[in-house]
Amino acid sequence: MLKHEINDLYSAEEQIIDALPAMIEKARDRKLKKALQDHLKVTETQKRRLDEIQKRLELEPARKGFLSALFAKKCKGMQGLIEEGEKVMSEEMDPDVMDAAIVGCAQKIEHYEICGYGTARAYAEELGLSAVEKALKTSLDEEYKSDDLLTELAVRRLNKEATPRGSRVVNQRNIQGNKRRKGSRIKSTSSTPKKNSSSRTTRKKSVAR
Ligand code: FE
Ligand code: FE
Repeated sequence: MLKHEINDLYSAEEQIIDALPAMIEKARDRKLKKALQDHLKVTETQKRRLDEIQKRLELEPARKGFLSALFAKKCKGMQGLIEEGEKVMSEEMDPDVMDAAIVGCAQKIEHYEICGYGTARAYAEELGLSAVEKALKTSLDEEYKSDDLLTELAVRRLNKEATPRGSRVVNQRNIQGNKRRKGSRIKSTSSTPKKNSSSRTTRKKSVAR
């Protein structure tokens, strides 16, 4: 299952590297563009990191028989998220609204990765593969950091700019699930509040269960 997660993440990162340039191009806000550009570089490093992990685990590509369906080359989950993002970006909309929409799409991608890296890291820890665990944690922390930055951009500014004046009749916080519900483990959209390290640890541990 660890090998499966590594393969899945590798495919996910590859697809993100292909998809990010279009998002960067479409984003209008300077800080959002920069955040996406920076994350493209981070993603390339993450792919190399997975390369090294694959070598370390002597990971073979797809195997016949055991879990063969899981070892399929392309990560369909990421493919779906990217396709949905492309659909959103093909719509005609105000550039301010587009920026807010791009953040939403990017965070769905980040949350998928956070789940994948969290799970893989927990497996590596359980198997006593400390070097692999450490490498996966590095990527996991980078994904959290990117997610936090996107949240900050959206909640502090982009979502406000995307909202027509005088139309804020409903509490946005409630629309976006900004309030942490009891027992919720991973928060959706551009609404993730700043986390402290202890709640993050809880989330990381919970991912693989
Ligand atoms: Fe990544
Ligand atoms: Fe990412």
